[in-house]
Amino acid sequence: MIVSTRPLRRRLTTLLAVAGAVIAAGATVFATGTHSASAAACNGYVGLTYDDGPTGSTSQLLNALRSNGVRATMFNVGQNVAGNPGMTQQQVSAGMWVANHSYTHAHLTQQSQSQMQSELSRTQDAIRNATGQTPRLFRPPYGETNGTLRGVESSLGLTEVLWDVDSQDWNGASTAAIVQAAGRLQNGQVILMHDGIQNTINAIPQIMQNLTSRNLCPGMISPQTGRAVAPDGGTQPTGGPTSPQPTNGGGGSCTATIVPGTVWGDRYNTTVNVSGSSAWIVTVTLTSPQQISTTWNANFTWSASNVATVRPNGSGNSFGFTTMMNGNSGARPSVSCRTS
Ligand SMILES: [Zn+2]
Repeated sequence: MIVSTRPLRRRLTTLLAVAGAVIAAGATVFATGTHSASAAACNGYVGLTYDDGPTGSTSQLLNALRSNGVRATMFNVGQNVAGNPGMTQQQVSAGMWVANHSYTHAHLTQQSQSQMQSELSRTQDAIRNATGQTPRLFRPPYGETNGTLRGVESSLGLTEVLWDVDSQDWNGASTAAIVQAAGRLQNGQVILMHDGIQNTINAIPQIMQNLTSRNLCPGMISPQTGRAVAPDGGTQPTGGPTSPQPTNGGGGSCTATIVPGTVWGDRYNTTVNVSGSSAWIVTVTLTSPQQISTTWNANFTWSASNVATVRPNGSGNSFGFTTMMNGNSGARPSVSCRTS
């Protein structure tokens, strides 16, 4: 994010010679065992993200990620991609997801709509030329966004992704502090880190130890929800309370996705994010004897004691509720979405 001011170009030239050797050495190491870390039980997924690449140390970052069985999302700066398309392809070859972080790392909210359009579309082109893939995720530099920018993102089929946890690696955080920040990640959440920082690379083994100990696995960021999901994008966390069901209706289609919230001894919170049509109707089904005690940001009506029909109340496309367990602590709700 703020690290764009670092002299990347100079670092690039000095490190390029080293990079080739690292890739060549890494390629054989990577061939086996990269899935062992994620073969353990995944009770949830988190999104590890690295911004501002590719840089002169991208190959070192990829080496560390692959040798720890990690897949991550790389928010690339378009001009860096154009300057080193081969390294961008290396990101994809290493199993990473490539995403858009503007072309010049500009303060986009200070720009006109046409300038924003240029920043984003040129980056789409650069990444497509380098990898054959068209990004579907966009992170605005410095996290600065507004309605105009979101409109441009939407016109390019891009989903805006900010972060839940800031590692502060751009601000000189120690390796231990970066590991500690990752320790705060919960299911579905995303952490901000950066390409080109040694402490960040050094943190990877300990981050994975921490996540594994909590049965969390690195996942992809869903273009539908902007939340971390299983790497194949189609599987929700085991035991997770989600069942997104896109439905085609007269008002378009919608998808409802559950984000688990705080759990107490006798109750738990649930957030539901709806994407697609704004004319949505979400059905929430509980397992009896669980009952919803509190709701927010939508209108709930009840067709049975354990089945709620939820409609927008003008508070946007995200709502939530508290469920009393009533002795059943294991069950979680399911949701489906249709349009009115
Ligand atoms: Zn950045």
